[in-house]
Amino acid sequence: MQWKTADYAGWGRALRAHGRIARPERVSALTEALAEGGPAIGNCRSYGDSPLNDGGAAIRMTRMDRLLAFDPETGVIEVEAGASIGALLKLLAPRGWMPAVMPGTGLATVGGCIANDVHGKNHHGAGSFGQHVLAVTLMTAAGPREVSPASDPDLFRATMGGLGQTGAILSARLQLRTIPGQRMKVLETAMPDFDSFIAALDASKAEFAVGWIDATAKRKRLGRGILEEATLVEGTRPGPERKRKPVPFDAPNALLSRPVVKIFNRWYGSGVPDGGRKRTRALDDFFFPLDALSDWNRLYGKRGFHQFQCVLPADRAAALKEILSTIARGGIASPLAVLKRMGPGRAGHLSFPMEGYTLAVDMPARARVPTLYARLEDQVLAAGGRIYLAKDALARPESMAAMYPELEAWRAEAAKADPEARLATDLVRRLHLRSL
Ligand SMILES: Cc1cc2nc3c(=O)[nH]c(=O)nc-3n(C[C@H](O)[C@H](O)[C@H](O)COP(=O)(O)OP(=O)(O)OC[C@H]3O[C@@H](n4cnc5c(N)ncnc54)[C@H](O)[C@@H]3O)c2cc1C
Repeated sequence: MQWKTADYAGWGRALRAHGRIARPERVSALTEALAEGGPAIGNCRSYGDSPLNDGGAAIRMTRMDRLLAFDPETGVIEVEAGASIGALLKLLAPRGWMPAVMPGTGLATVGGCIANDVHGKNHHGAGSFGQHVLAVTLMTAAGPREVSPASDPDLFRATMGGLGQTGAILSARLQLRTIPGQRMKVLETAMPDFDSFIAALDASKAEFAVGWIDATAKRKRLGRGILEEATLVEGTRPGPERKRKPVPFDAPNALLSRPVVKIFNRWYGSGVPDGGRKRTRALDDFFFPLDALSDWNRLYGKRGFHQFQCVLPADRAAALKEILSTIARGGIASPLAVLKRMGPGRAGHLSFPMEGYTLAVDMPARARVPTLYARLEDQVLAAGGRIYLAKDALARPESMAAMYPELEAWRAEAAKADPEARLATDLVRRLHLRSL
């Protein structure tokens, strides 16, 4: 097995690691790599340090991306964990199927989607990614072992959203869902403020719904933005192939300064007339809008950025409004704020979702962000919510037990599967997830 020593980072680029990376193509090479320790990682689309192992080894799974089996009658697919969700969508959509749950980037791998039990714009109805996993094959010292909810319920639950700590996922068997065609009918409605946004999300009957918020707007305009509600519709043409526009260099810091952010938000908000706007869009354009600009994380400059994503229980919308107000007053929010309604669906001990509302906001990495983040973290804790570990780089270990009440049960399963914590990552160490 060939190892390469490299610097690498999560999507936010604010936290970095230096270490040995293997990229196995076959099970034999994966076994060899695992013998040297280190976690399996995917495409590093997590924002913080969950795919990092500074000073140690990491096994990048992206070359193990083969389709192993597909039954077009039942929609059950078996695929290696390094396959990306976007590649699956492209392959399956013309055959009338798609993954039941997809995050906002098609570049996340199946292994990464399982290890963070990701959610999509249909979480309120479809639940989380792990709820559509029929079985995973974990690599063990004795070779590959299939783990399903029937064969090993506790290990399965610890693996869904389990941050790779129960073993490298080699492959997964997924239940897909049918689709009528390759198009989405999208209704966009302008929302004047936070309360209208929450009321519209509560009233929405759409299968897919996502809110884009201007996180810089304050007072009467706090929470203004655009609600997108979408339905899958017929249409055989997938739409024109998207040419991914690259960001060729790290942007100067001034690009995301506050005035520029405000202009962006004004432009974004003005596109939708008062009566709303209907559009037909291609699947990838709706599900993965930001993938159109490749390496857009470089827009934040060399210092990178953080994402704060929290979820609060459904009866705590007022507390979420307070959180948004803290962000707006903090003066460092970016244009990329997302608000969604979540259902109760979650598949693992450390799964992020809970029934309520989730808010995600990007912030360029600046000296004052940790203080702001700590204030937001306190507000989330006080409201009985939690922070999403797939995005986190700044949370405190003391918050974890309250945010993730099943932490002890998960810890016990991870310790059984990996007693020497050879799979630990920087995130796991920073948040003391494997130990007290
Ligand atoms: C633009 C953008 C939009 C996003 N939108 C959403 C969203 O809507 N909903 C959402 O839930 N998330 C979203 N995310 C987050 C993203 O879906 C998750 O971070 C996902 O886990 C990334 O997958 P990855 O393959 O890059 O995994 P990585 O980031 O490389 O790794 C994540 C974790 O998975 C583990 N892991 C990866 N592969 C394996 C494997 N084969 N076996 C065992 N463990 C493994 C790693 O050890 C690590 O702990 C978004 C991210 C971006 C950049």
